[in-house]
Amino acid sequence: MSRAFPSSLPLSRHRIDRDHDTRSDPAALDRLWSSERARVLVLHRGLALASTGSDPEGWDGFGEPPADRRTELALLRPDELGADSDSADSDSADSESADNDSADTHTADTAAGQVRLYLGILLDADDRPTGAPVFAVTVPDARADALVAERPGASWVNLRLVATELDDSAAGVFTEALAMMNWHAVSSHCPRCGATTTVETGGWVRRCTVEGVELFPRTDAAVIVGIVDAEERLLLGSNALWEKNRYSLLAGFVEPGESLEAAAIREIAEESGVVIADPEYVGSQPWPFPASLMVGFMARVADDGAAGERPDGDEIVDLRWFSREEIVDPDNGILLPGPSSIARAIIERWYGGPLLPRNTPSDVVLPADAAADERPVPSGSGEG
Ligand SMILES: [Zn+2]
Repeated sequence: MSRAFPSSLPLSRHRIDRDHDTRSDPAALDRLWSSERARVLVLHRGLALASTGSDPEGWDGFGEPPADRRTELALLRPDELGADSDSADSDSADSESADNDSADTHTADTAAGQVRLYLGILLDADDRPTGAPVFAVTVPDARADALVAERPGASWVNLRLVATELDDSAAGVFTEALAMMNWHAVSSHCPRCGATTTVETGGWVRRCTVEGVELFPRTDAAVIVGIVDAEERLLLGSNALWEKNRYSLLAGFVEPGESLEAAAIREIAEESGVVIADPEYVGSQPWPFPASLMVGFMARVADDGAAGERPDGDEIVDLRWFSREEIVDPDNGILLPGPSSIARAIIERWYGGPLLPRNTPSDVVLPADAAADERPVPSGSGEG
């Protein structure tokens, strides 16, 4: 693994200069929008327009995706968007039309649909500016259907299902755009007084039309923890909301007034009864479904911490400790989190290499082989 763990996480990858300075200059934004190199990522109901590829059929993001797939996002010129999107104007939009809609999803799309979001300037493979500005817009149903109909091979794709098929640049703009549009979708009205809000600053600020206060996008921090016991086994849990053969790391939202480390210790104790010591940060990944930032830790069970191990029965219905051999055993009967998740990345970090597709068990590389050379030193064991 040549890349540092945090920057290799599928949704943490990016190839863009977010160009903060230009956001507050409406004339400059208009010039960029009108420039020949401007490109637009188009979103619809949380999906992005892809020119090549589609969501994998029959796969929901857990376990292994179908092999040998490729997806490329469609970055359109502004003049390719069509009539419904021409009026998108980041500095004069308001959300009054949303009041007339009854369906929540439609209302949400309408609120986000009036935003011309400036994502930044694309960078090349050496992180040099390409000069190509990228925007994102959300289109309504009718326009969404037309955009696909006009483009052979095009489809609407789900970030969670195609993230690992995208290059760094596409993964970055999709993640950034989706996170922001999810915020716009629920921000048509001021949370303080209920008045409508307008969009400013290239789509990065909304302002209350009555109080004049600025409203900023929010990110909800959640901790996710790889817990290792004295025998180097990893603790995985099965969530009550999942099919029962699905196992992943334990995770939970950070509460207000709480540090990340305290949240990790509290969440693990609540969900499993296990007491962990000294959680150590390993990396983070945005998870815009709708607004999370997953903050990853590794931790060891405290000296007397394993005795009380029990699933909370509410959120977590089963807990199992896995050795490295057990986790790649094709007969273990479990499904692990899919490759776009930080959970999968932390499991592989503990394992010491990629967990190969489970339908080809003869190819599985056990730690005794090549992967052992790259196995990271488990956290909490005294390095540093
Ligand atoms: Zn207000």
